[in-house]
Amino acid sequence: MSDTAADRREFLGSGLVDVACARCGAGVRVRKTSAEHTSIQWSTAAQRRCEAFALRTGCPALRRSIEDAVESGRLLVG
Ligand SMILES: [Zn+2]
Repeated sequence: MSDTAADRREFLGSGLVDVACARCGAGVRVRKTSAEHTSIQWSTAAQRRCEAFALRTGCPALRRSIEDAVESGRLLVG
């Protein structure tokens, strides 16, 4: 279990937070460096899962999920 705890600390240190798209369920890792700038790390599985990923405009449902994470304080900005 100590390995898992170490992994989690590393996650928090990197500022990456797991967010799942409320519509398609694609799990991504998100880091918000400012209110305007959001970097999203897509796993291969998430890219396959989210149809909107291929659209280049991004997934609106995922964007909303990210906003929810910020509002709930789960995703810290900065
Ligand atoms: Zn999606």
